[in-house]
Amino acid sequence: MNTPFERHIAWTSETPLGLKIDRAEGPYLFLADGRRITDFISGIAVSSIGHRHPAVLQAIEDQLERHLHVMVYGEFEKAAQVQYATNLASNLPPELQVIYFTMSGTEANEGALKLAKKYTGRSKLIAFEGSFHGDTHGSLSVTGRSIYRSPFEPLLPNVSFLPFNEEAALNAIDDQTACVITEPIQGEGGINVPSEAYLPGLRRLCDENGWLLMLDEIQTGNGRTGHWFAWQHQGVMPDVMTLAKGLANGVPIGACLAHGEAAGVLTAGTHGSTFGGNPLACSASLAVIDVIEKEDLIARASALGERIKNELTQALSGTAGVREIRGRGLMIGIELDRACGELVGRAMDAGLLINVTTGNVIRLLPPLVMTDDEADVLVGKLTDVVNAFCAREEQSA
Ligand code: PLP
Repeated sequence: MNTPFERHIAWTSETPLGLKIDRAEGPYLFLADGRRITDFISGIAVSSIGHRHPAVLQAIEDQLERHLHVMVYGEFEKAAQVQYATNLASNLPPELQVIYFTMSGTEANEGALKLAKKYTGRSKLIAFEGSFHGDTHGSLSVTGRSIYRSPFEPLLPNVSFLPFNEEAALNAIDDQTACVITEPIQGEGGINVPSEAYLPGLRRLCDENGWLLMLDEIQTGNGRTGHWFAWQHQGVMPDVMTLAKGLANGVPIGACLAHGEAAGVLTAGTHGSTFGGNPLACSASLAVIDVIEKEDLIARASALGERIKNELTQALSGTAGVREIRGRGLMIGIELDRACGELVGRAMDAGLLINVTTGNVIRLLPPLVMTDDEADVLVGKLTDVVNAFCAREEQSA
């Protein structure tokens, strides 16, 4: 406990990497000791168009010239917010045109859960094992991993968890259900991609029984999986959708989208966020949409993701210990048959920043602007790191 960092910053991990960040640019982190690390996790799907993208910096500067925070209640019309909402909605169907802005993903989910209860007058919430929806009490209550939940129980009552990607289990939902909340692809839970029929089946059941389908696109959204939103792969439109992370490429923002009648229940006193839809974040988000469209990054995420997945599958096909390589677009998981948290440090020694989730899944969420050369570096170096780790484990077994 010698440095100001050690004395004053609340630590969030048991195995701190302790990197001193000097600056970040594009896909690179530059450390105070002179090292350059390539960022293949993008601050967990946040810096999707690369660190300090010039268009985002310019948008922030322009907004600084006009105004920062003004007032959140009372329907003050702020151009950055209105323009961003209009552009975001232009990629969405008529049923998802009204946007409630927040500061973060978990706040967006809090709003979505409260919307569901108030709009339907029902109280039962359905969620899925392995899911992650945020760390505040409501979002945590529908997060399907007991490791996160159990220290804080009792949480919200009337929440049922069903196994993810098992259609038969959906019949457990009853007529008291206000909503079903799920990620279209589970991120924190290990990059779990459901079968093609799963989400359409869930949508059908929601329609037949009057439950709201709420899709948490906080990690999957904004182009990462090769569509603006992951539900577009199967055309399964949600009644409520939540977004955050990559929207403003590093400026905090979240959003809860619904049709007008449902979104209308979130009146003042019902849900609020002083900083929600902050003008700086909205102007940055507007620039992000523009960059994604102009640079055709959604098609790029799809093509590059497929390429990386195929190359990793080939390169690691003979490696004992690698169970499966899966994902969609630039959301990729490599599942091992053993705990592999130490791979983060080993990859760092090779100049790569990666992440491990659930203890045994390497998670890759690279920036959508990653070049072919950077993808080659990722595949080559990561393959070496995983092979060396698995070979050492085999020898010591
Ligand atoms: N939902 C999903 C799917 C997430 O991946 C996360 C964060 O990892 C959240 C919600 C919570 O978002 P935030 O950390 O912005 O509150």
